[in-house]
Amino acid sequence: MILYPKYYCKRITDIDVNFLKENNIKALILDVDNTLIDIDKNFVEGLEEWHKNICNSGIKTIILSNSNKVDKVSKVAKVLGIEYIYFGTKPLKRGFKQAIEKLDLPPENIAAVGDQIFTDVIGANRCKLFPILVEPVSEKDLLITKWKRPIEEKIIKKYLKNK
Ligand SMILES: [Mg+2]
Repeated sequence: MILYPKYYCKRITDIDVNFLKENNIKALILDVDNTLIDIDKNFVEGLEEWHKNICNSGIKTIILSNSNKVDKVSKVAKVLGIEYIYFGTKPLKRGFKQAIEKLDLPPENIAAVGDQIFTDVIGANRCKLFPILVEPVSEKDLLITKWKRPIEEKIIKKYLKNK
């Protein structure tokens, strides 16, 4: 099902290294808004420590954000010390393909983490990646995202029921 993630959790920091290894995941493609940072650009609690742990386990990471605000995206990438792609046009394949190329791994060994079904999950499924959906960090949303949330909630409910 193209709308469903393979894994769903509250925060990105809930993603466990052992879980990734069990599923043969060797790299993560990370969304920024509402996945790594909240609407006021604050980092998710414990993000840097979690990310260090991921990297120390030999799992690669890269940022793929739909945001066109290069300052914001590059700042987050710099703190984590990783590469980034901004204006990623998810759910189109273009940005994902770029990220896959940079990671230099088969898609089945890459998970894409994000908070939106209509961009992160659909795009990941289209590219045969392992989609991980997280709850949006902020209650508030950018206007462009707001209208999709009630629909997403319905899909998530159905997904959890059928799991
Ligand atoms: Mg997002």
